[in-house]
Amino acid sequence: MTTLEITGGAVLGPDATVERADVLVDQDAGTILEIGSELEGMADETLDAAGSLVTPGFVNGHTHVAMTLLRGYADDKPLEAWLREDIWPAEGAMAPEDIRAGAELGILEMIKGGTTAFADMYFEVPEIVAAVEESGVRAVLGHGIVTVGKDGDAARADAAESLAVAEEFDGAAGGRVSTVFAPHSLTTVGASYLEEFVPKARDAGVPIHYHANETEDEVTPIVDEHEVRPLEYAAERGLLEAEDFVAHGVHVDKREIELLAEAGTSVIHCPASNMKLASGIAPVQRLLDAGVTVGLGTDGAASNNDLSMLDEARDAAMLGKLAASDASAVAAESVVKMLTAGSADALGIESGRLEPGAPADLAVIDLEKPHLVPAHDLVSHLAYAAEAGDVRHTICDGAVLMADREVRTLDEPRVLERAREGAAALSDRTEQ
Ligand SMILES: [Zn+2]
Repeated sequence: MTTLEITGGAVLGPDATVERADVLVDQDAGTILEIGSELEGMADETLDAAGSLVTPGFVNGHTHVAMTLLRGYADDKPLEAWLREDIWPAEGAMAPEDIRAGAELGILEMIKGGTTAFADMYFEVPEIVAAVEESGVRAVLGHGIVTVGKDGDAARADAAESLAVAEEFDGAAGGRVSTVFAPHSLTTVGASYLEEFVPKARDAGVPIHYHANETEDEVTPIVDEHEVRPLEYAAERGLLEAEDFVAHGVHVDKREIELLAEAGTSVIHCPASNMKLASGIAPVQRLLDAGVTVGLGTDGAASNNDLSMLDEARDAAMLGKLAASDASAVAAESVVKMLTAGSADALGIESGRLEPGAPADLAVIDLEKPHLVPAHDLVSHLAYAAEAGDVRHTICDGAVLMADREVRTLDEPRVLERAREGAAALSDRTEQ
């Protein structure tokens, strides 16, 4: 057995308590063997965590990782205009190598910010699988389906590809990849395609991930045409099961919150994207009070504009309080749970908790920083004060992806250069 030991840190437990302890990892199995004192000296490799907080790796519950190439490409527009005028034309010009370059850039950024797993919805998924394989992170991947503006054959082919990709790549990268069927949203995919393909996804045992109730513009057309709220429409078409998770859930009414809770469908809250696109404020505390599993996601880098989960945690806390007009809403402990176990549970992966037998997916945060002194409450620091640049080490599936800010699995200068070159060429092609 090859072992790794993370020594001398303060370890965040599943019950939000913090204790000084060492963590011993079985690198072959990719799991935590033991958390305790006096384990020192037993392991093949040791990472120093003195003066640091050891937390579960963060789980980014909703992103479009290759959109890092479009970071700063178009800002300051609402969702519909932004998608139709800027993002979709640029995405139409993206080649497979652009997806690979964008995915590597996004994963590099996530590793440097302590994120060990992410859920993604995009196209050219084999390129994203390759980036996940090389980088060592964990991912839940789906091919995003859009049927609006396509003829019947092209629309059916897009839906069929999403299912085929989900079946082909489940378990890839040594089991670090799992997959979803991924209709883009309830308004960008026609009802007939949902009715045809959702039962096939169920038969294949593939969970479903989609954008839901992100803006008022995603609610009104469904209410007008079908005379039900979007999540009622989703439930009627079999898109609201316990293994499914929806991104956003901003404009949900009382009945829809009850439906989510009854079905066990999770919500991934994306506060930065919701603020930037002025989409609205998700009722996070009401979702939590109803018993809905809530995770956190950055959404794509073009609407955020970074992939820092610690930024997202702080945004979730601040916005949640504002939404509830209650400073005790979306408290630090709730935010830390969303950042780790909440997202992991939504995605159906076992990460998000530091305990023996759990996946060895963790991040080590350097507390020797002016903005992290004094340490009255480390859960508070994680929710409100820590930043992506404070992450010292990142470990996923027992492997050290970053040690003392040096990423081992990706060649950082090369990833940056390829992304710069790819983005410049893409801009030239899009403007022609
Ligand atoms: Zn999204």
